[in-house]
Amino acid sequence: MDKRISASHVYPFLKELKQNYFVNYRKLGREKIYNLTDSGKKFVNETLSRFNEVIQESLKRKLSKCIHCGCEVYNNKYTEIINGKKLAFCCCHCADSYKKGIKHGKH
Ligand SMILES: [Zn+2]
Repeated sequence: MDKRISASHVYPFLKELKQNYFVNYRKLGREKIYNLTDSGKKFVNETLSRFNEVIQESLKRKLSKCIHCGCEVYNNKYTEIINGKKLAFCCCHCADSYKKGIKHGKH
């Protein structure tokens, strides 16, 4: 997944901020120096914390634990159906060890 933020993301965001008087800017030579206004700071903080909540929530939902080693697995990284149950593992090696454990009566 590409997590980089490109200019095509930043400029519409800046434009929106400007329209709502959340930023002001001054010119320094050929550059524009942007500053958040007080209401802009409030807006950004609220937006970021909401964004953070959404991310935390979606991570929680996708989070499960590897049945073999107990480490946290995102997005069911490796699943296998064993004895009719869909089980989540962190990797195929854990799944193999788990299956060997079944054979030896460990589970
Ligand atoms: Zn594991």
